[in-house]
Amino acid sequence: MSENHEKKNLRTPIVCVMGHVDHGKTTLLDQIRGTSIVKGEAGAITQHIGATEVPIDVIVERCGDKRLRDKFIVPGLLFIDTPGHHAFTTLRSRGGSLADLAVVVVDINEGFKPQTIESLNILKRFKTPFIVVTNKIDKLYGWKSNPHAPFLTTYKKQTPETQALFETKFYEVVGRLYEQGFSADRFDRITDFQKTLGVVPISGLTGEGVSDVLMILLGLAQRFLESALHYNIDGPGIGTVLEVKEEKGLGTTIDVILYDGTLRKGDTVVIGRLGEPIETKIRALLKPRELAEIRYESKFKQVPKAVAACGVKISAPGIEEALAGSPVIMATPETIESVLEKVKKEIADVQIQTDSD
Ligand code: GDP
Repeated sequence: MSENHEKKNLRTPIVCVMGHVDHGKTTLLDQIRGTSIVKGEAGAITQHIGATEVPIDVIVERCGDKRLRDKFIVPGLLFIDTPGHHAFTTLRSRGGSLADLAVVVVDINEGFKPQTIESLNILKRFKTPFIVVTNKIDKLYGWKSNPHAPFLTTYKKQTPETQALFETKFYEVVGRLYEQGFSADRFDRITDFQKTLGVVPISGLTGEGVSDVLMILLGLAQRFLESALHYNIDGPGIGTVLEVKEEKGLGTTIDVILYDGTLRKGDTVVIGRLGEPIETKIRALLKPRELAEIRYESKFKQVPKAVAACGVKISAPGIEEALAGSPVIMATPETIESVLEKVKKEIADVQIQTDSD
């Protein structure tokens, strides 16, 4: 972490990828994960439980302009590995969505589909800053791929005919966004991202335009989320249950995205379930093992603490009925009563909202 981050105490923004089935959400996430690992870049990405962290150094390196390093005060981006709007709406924090930012994927060849519109409506409702990516540009007739290149670099290498075809398809999507009430344009033609929705042409398969996506997400985080990203590193750990999972040798565990404070082994935590919340003690905090440690039998290794924002697996007694999407909050003897009350209330709210979705 640079001095900038420590001074500002900003946590990593959490990003969710949404869009119509088969438009390329998983491929984009794989691309973001894969290239950074393969290239072994500076401060390579970290695999979390249920999420992938791309540190600022990796993003700056991919964009090839080190001067950008000092412009950014957020430490990187944390992508939730589960794509789709179900993940976006069920994973909540303080009544809003757990995701601070979103990416809506649209296949440039297919254009808008029902789930594209659903995703946009949800983001409007939650007032979440987001970008749209027009994916699969490599499938446009005559497109010559330049793997991992920024969009403008690869665009300039296309023939005038391919560029014209691209423009037609691209502005069809922009037109559909306009019908949905969004003034949108290609990201490099935008001066004010508050007024205009940024659209980034990409190929999740070849990686073209993906560095632009990362850079613009960082910019959005910094411009619109600075106050939301302030966190108390020494404060009680607060997170959301991503999934309840049986693990061999560990019994029932919960995968949690932590978005505030710190959790430690031995901490008392309150977790949501239908009815009375669960009060339990953390037996173990687990993170995925690195590839180099594959000789170990378990896929996980114990860590003494987890600091927001991150994905972590919790092993604790009595968590079988924990509810995906519900809060996990660390408590002390002084705070336990109020924390129990708070979690109970949040579960009731989630139930009401889920029922009305
Ligand atoms: P999801 O359902 O939105 O997660 O979509 P997937 O990522 O599973 O992609 C659906 C199909 O489209 C798969 O066969 C992918 O290989 C393919 N695909 C995704 N992105 C691209 C892309 O940028 N270019 C090409 N040519 N194919 C892609």
